[in-house]
Amino acid sequence: MESKTEDTRVLKDDARKTLEKTFKDLKRKVVIEVFTKDGVNEPYNQLSQKFAAELSEISDKIVVKTFKFGDERSKKMGVTRSPTILIDPDHYRIIYTGAPAGEEGRSFIQTILMVSRDDSMLSNKGRKRLAELRDKRHIQVFVTAACPYCPGEVQNANAAAIERPDLVVSEVVESAENLDLAKQFNVGSVPQTVINGKIINIGMQQEEMFIEGLITLVPHEIPKQETAKDDVLGDVDLIIVGAGPAGLTAAIYAARAGLHAIVLEKSVPGGQVAITPLVENWPGMISVPGKQLVDLMVAHAKTYAHIHDGEEVLEIKVGNRIEAVTLNGRYLGNALLLATGATHKKVGVPGEDRLYGKGVSYCATCDAFFYKDRKVVVIGGGNTAMTDALYIDSIGAKVTVIHRRDALRAEKRLVDSVIERKIPILLNSIVTEIKGDKNVESVAIKDVLTGKESTIETDAAFVAIGETPISGLAASVGVETDEAGFIVVDKEMRTSIPRIYAAGDVTGGVRQIVTATGTGATAALTIFNDLTSGKWTRRKE
Ligand code: NAP
Repeated sequence: MESKTEDTRVLKDDARKTLEKTFKDLKRKVVIEVFTKDGVNEPYNQLSQKFAAELSEISDKIVVKTFKFGDERSKKMGVTRSPTILIDPDHYRIIYTGAPAGEEGRSFIQTILMVSRDDSMLSNKGRKRLAELRDKRHIQVFVTAACPYCPGEVQNANAAAIERPDLVVSEVVESAENLDLAKQFNVGSVPQTVINGKIINIGMQQEEMFIEGLITLVPHEIPKQETAKDDVLGDVDLIIVGAGPAGLTAAIYAARAGLHAIVLEKSVPGGQVAITPLVENWPGMISVPGKQLVDLMVAHAKTYAHIHDGEEVLEIKVGNRIEAVTLNGRYLGNALLLATGATHKKVGVPGEDRLYGKGVSYCATCDAFFYKDRKVVVIGGGNTAMTDALYIDSIGAKVTVIHRRDALRAEKRLVDSVIERKIPILLNSIVTEIKGDKNVESVAIKDVLTGKESTIETDAAFVAIGETPISGLAASVGVETDEAGFIVVDKEMRTSIPRIYAAGDVTGGVRQIVTATGTGATAALTIFNDLTSGKWTRRKE
């Protein structure tokens, strides 16, 4: 039983235990300085102080110092916002402007580890390129506590500050605690990266792209790899591409069956569930935030298999072995499972791309916070649209749902909740344009029955009109897909190419978390049987 004092702690018992293990890797002492001003952002001041103090209780290599505004140290360090946390300020300029709440706790811990080793953990290529930086850079990464992609971008910024302490300042700005700053930089989607006062990017970037933007101060696309590196980074029984519920479950089942499996994930683990505000149909849990659910799955899968984040598979080669080629090298396997999932669809109307991050969003969990007390439309009539509408409403925004047909596709339970919350639903209406100068100001609507056109004033448009499968990789190697791009599989999750399997949303169907995990398990067991029987079974038509 937890004692009373433990209940008020920021770190619960399981997190504390994990950190005890993690902090064994600390090489040298890391000083954390916490600055607060009484009465400003008070709950966050307390959170920062408690969090830092609890970390220092876990390891004597973490030394916490607290300061008040106006004292010598705060003046010397130029601290102006409360709370502010500096990590190892005598060696690096890494600033948390605001408490590292929610997801940002992860980047904070990771940064302590990197600092204690004085190692940015950048790739050799990244280090080499960053060595060419000649001028000062001040990076500001705007984040929100619920954004699962934010720690990835923060990691890029903090790594750059560790690699080039002479020139790079990394500042993580918690938007909720610094709304004026967020407004100054017109933040509407997170993570948003600002360098030397210029908006460089919205979203989590790969290391290479981030460093190019940092050096040139111009947003960068990932350069196409002309020749992949030849290094063999892994030689396993099964390569799993994608760390959503399907890939994670497959990893557990494959490893338990006795296969050596690895999971390659281009972004962060969790797939679409990581940005689902609330899941209410995962058996055994009446209601659970999507991120919390996938965190449990990830932790479980990690006890069985390595999950490589930020490792995008660019090419698959089928020969004696199956090769998965990434920017960093090659992975060899006897079989490969495509669990690449699906991504959000766009409405495809004028204004949608131009105003992305300025009111247009595809992630309610990440961005709804910015529209508290403001007007928001949600476009779509499925489960995602209803879940998003309920979440945005709960944050305090005035939501209107816009749907193209006369009936909603979403399950009754969700529709009932939307009606109960008195969220207006505009049926038979299509959005023809998203309008606004710098930010979304309105959407143009057309009634599909009468042809009548109208305008709805709104500060944001959350798009939730379904998914499109991420099956380009599959198609490039000749795996059969249907007209909508979903991978065609048999009941045992075999694709049209022997030794290549698929599971989860990329295979279409009802696309639920339970079906993704179910097909992931089926695929892993089929792969085990196929590999151990020694004869490749052709897909059953
Ligand atoms: P979905 O079920 O495919 O629904 C998409 C909605 O957007 C439909 O109402 C569709 O209209 C509309 N739509 C499609 N294209 C459009 C366009 N170009 N313009 C305007 N409207 C458009 O997609 P989803 O809601 O993202 O859900 C995806 C999958 O995840 C589903 O299998 C869903 O069940 C699952 N999911 C489940 C939960 C849950 O169980 N709690 C939560 C989220 C998602 P029509 O109805 O006219 O086709």
